[in-house]
Amino acid sequence: MTSRRIAVVGAGIGGLTLAIELRRRGLDVEVYEATEELREVGAAVALSANATRFFLERFGLEERLSPRWAEVEALAFRDGRDGRLIGRHGTDYRERFGAPYAGIHRAELQQVLAGALGGEGLHLRKRLVGIDDDGASAVLRFEDGGTAEADLVVGADGARSTTRRLLLGYDDAVYSGTSASRGIVPPRALSELPDPGAIQFWMGPGAHLLHYPLGGGDHNFFLVERSPAPWPHERWVVPVEPDSHLERFRDWHPAVRQMVSAVPVTQRWALFHRPPLGRWSRGRLTLLGDAAHALVPHHGQGANQSIEDAIVLADQLAGTDDWDAARERYERLRRGRTRKVQHASITTADVLHLPDGRRADERNARLGHPGAVDRHLAWIHGFRADVDVPDEAGGGTWL
Ligand SMILES: Cc1cc2nc3c(=O)[nH]c(=O)nc-3n(C[C@H](O)[C@H](O)[C@H](O)COP(=O)(O)OP(=O)(O)OC[C@H]3O[C@@H](n4cnc5c(N)ncnc54)[C@H](O)[C@@H]3O)c2cc1C
Repeated sequence: MTSRRIAVVGAGIGGLTLAIELRRRGLDVEVYEATEELREVGAAVALSANATRFFLERFGLEERLSPRWAEVEALAFRDGRDGRLIGRHGTDYRERFGAPYAGIHRAELQQVLAGALGGEGLHLRKRLVGIDDDGASAVLRFEDGGTAEADLVVGADGARSTTRRLLLGYDDAVYSGTSASRGIVPPRALSELPDPGAIQFWMGPGAHLLHYPLGGGDHNFFLVERSPAPWPHERWVVPVEPDSHLERFRDWHPAVRQMVSAVPVTQRWALFHRPPLGRWSRGRLTLLGDAAHALVPHHGQGANQSIEDAIVLADQLAGTDDWDAARERYERLRRGRTRKVQHASITTADVLHLPDGRRADERNARLGHPGAVDRHLAWIHGFRADVDVPDEAGGGTWL
């Protein structure tokens, strides 16, 4: 339909998904990635049905993904200190939402996606530093001195996005008041763990542990604590004394302590998010994923929302020559939905971290109720970004 070029900045989860779908639809796309290879050591993601459905239905990746991911058997909530089971749901998840809920090493996911894209058009070691935009086309400038021209630039360069800073003119990251330690633990080190096939939240005053199984048998954990605001460091990830993260969890359940002490933890991640923007585009540039709406990971939705964005943007761009109108429709379809998920993500931590007392008891009653998934999660996981109209979606509440 057109020989115009789309440049995607960032070969993360959103950028690769967008590039695969654009190419599948016959559009000309090049991806520019800052790093030398597509891997992030020690990181994993849990992908929910609102995203995995596209990998299976559109990209036909089930055969490649199923040996690499672990489908979670249930979603469980526990008391972090006595280990009491508060609620266990979603044993019919795939049947219910039509696609899996699965944990996967992030590097493996990126490799499968890069394989689906094919070798063509993926440029590594290309860190974007600037964009010269004359309104009709854009010239991307890279750190190595190279340039590339495009008719449309999609900034999919993550939570610390350069493209967002170029669009806004400043850095608007906001510290969420929570920080996290994380690790990947082999199953042999988890003898105390009940229900290892489930994705589980262990809740307590001011902190929670989230963990889930990964393909190959490992478990990913993510230990979140309230930490004083503002974040006292320039960097988002800081070195910590080994085992300093254990202090606060001395009186937590043995399964929690065993998991979070099974591997050395030497870093702490400050969790930042970004305020919602009124527009995601300026000139030839449009944002996607964390660059457009970085959110805290307490609902496990950052990657999933990037995938939803990518599918919607590709759908809007394909089949029309009017890319400005396509981008406006994309923003209209995505801004409200991602705002709601951003807000739910930050308030989820507040709910998980309630102090002991009446409100924590009421939360536990809600999470133990058989309708908890319908009420609090179906609006996220049951959403079909390519079909559903966001304002009408769900009607669920935020936890
Ligand atoms: C500790 C932690 C745990 C998380 N767990 C989950 C989870 O379980 N489920 C979930 O859905 N989400 C989770 N998230 C969030 C998720 O990882 C992100 O939301 C998601 O990766 C965003 O996808 P993206 O494509 O927008 O950006 P990214 O996947 O971050 O990709 C951005 C890419 O852009 C590249 N890049 C950056 N700057 C430049 C530049 N200047 N030029 C060129 N390339 C550049 C980067 O190298 C990277 O490859 C978690 C996040 C954190 C921090």
